[in-house]
Amino acid sequence: GQCLLVCPTGALGERDETDRVLDYLFDPEIVTVFQFAPAVRVGFGEEFGFPVGTNVEGHIIAALRSLGADIVLDTNFAADVVIMEESAELLRRLGDGRRPTFTSCCPAWINFAERHYPDLLPLLSSTKSPQQCLGAIAKTYLPERMGIDPARIRVISIMPCVAKKDERARSQLGAGDVQEVDLVLTTREFARLLKRRGLDLRSLTPSTFDNPYMSAYSGAGAIFGTTGGVMEAAVRTMYRIVNGHELDHTEVAPLRGFEGLRTAAVEVGGPIGRVKVAMAHGLGPARELCERIRAGTADFDFIEIMACPGGCVDGGGNLRSKKAYRRNALKRRDTLFAIDRATPVRQSHNNPQVQALYRDYLEQPFSERAHRLLHTWYSDRRVAMTLTVKDIWNEITMST
Ligand code: SF4
Repeated sequence: GQCLLVCPTGALGERDETDRVLDYLFDPEIVTVFQFAPAVRVGFGEEFGFPVGTNVEGHIIAALRSLGADIVLDTNFAADVVIMEESAELLRRLGDGRRPTFTSCCPAWINFAERHYPDLLPLLSSTKSPQQCLGAIAKTYLPERMGIDPARIRVISIMPCVAKKDERARSQLGAGDVQEVDLVLTTREFARLLKRRGLDLRSLTPSTFDNPYMSAYSGAGAIFGTTGGVMEAAVRTMYRIVNGHELDHTEVAPLRGFEGLRTAAVEVGGPIGRVKVAMAHGLGPARELCERIRAGTADFDFIEIMACPGGCVDGGGNLRSKKAYRRNALKRRDTLFAIDRATPVRQSHNNPQVQALYRDYLEQPFSERAHRLLHTWYSDRRVAMTLTVKDIWNEITMST
């Protein structure tokens, strides 16, 4: 990760990381556990000539198995776990009159808040990101279920995001010397790794997940990769918690716009009533929203922030096209919505593997164990507001 900050081309950092993945894969003592983010499956195919937005989930699973991965998990599963914790947290905070709550799954947004809006940090959800939640459970619950020594496990993430490398190294994520996630490859780095190993995605037969504990996902987990997706996933689960039955219209249309800053009011029912929400993607709109909160002129309960315009479907680690940005991001996003529609289970709380995790291990959101594994804190890392949004953006995307 640090190499990326000093090496102008990023090449040094990338070579080191892909070499380390190969070291792990070839070490018989190590059990490699891979995860890939919701947006990777719709942004990766382009690297191998698939049409923009093709869902190559099955190809990625096959590629990882060809590389020699021991266990292939899905970050989408962890996105469902995040929703379990975050919905409970949000309802609890609303009950206490604490508002607004900001989402916390985008590490570039966390960095931005810690540096420029430390006064707003108490408003951030304490729930870790899906990447980190997956790592934490993959080093505790998973080895316990599978009878593996946790010390042998290395978790490797494939992310559409450069900031996830930085997130993995945060000192408050992990226990002692054991980090939750050991390595992060961007989508582009993963493509290079496959090419180095002579693997062409197009010649692989798509495969499916087979881990019985941490690879199933709901449609709600799938849409995390686009702006408004976390919000919609959370609304589906909050509605169920408050009313005891599912939302009639699973797809919450008012949350699905694409403007940089959007607002809506969603009827959640019960004592909570209408929840006022805002969604910002891109740091310009995020800054605008933070300034309004600081000035006391904004009136929201829940705010989703994604640093990349479009959300992770056009993340800084994905193949990106400045010219075709909007068209490509929308195509990838449409595929995520199609995955949601095609997934039999559409709410995080109905994911059977998530239900088993809580029944057999965590008990309930915010239990002592859930708190220890799935929640974190943020620190004031204030810097003078001298960086422009463009500078910060360059920092996020600093990788070749
Ligand atoms: Fe990473 Fe961008 Fe997604 Fe944030 S929005 S998690 S910086 S890819």
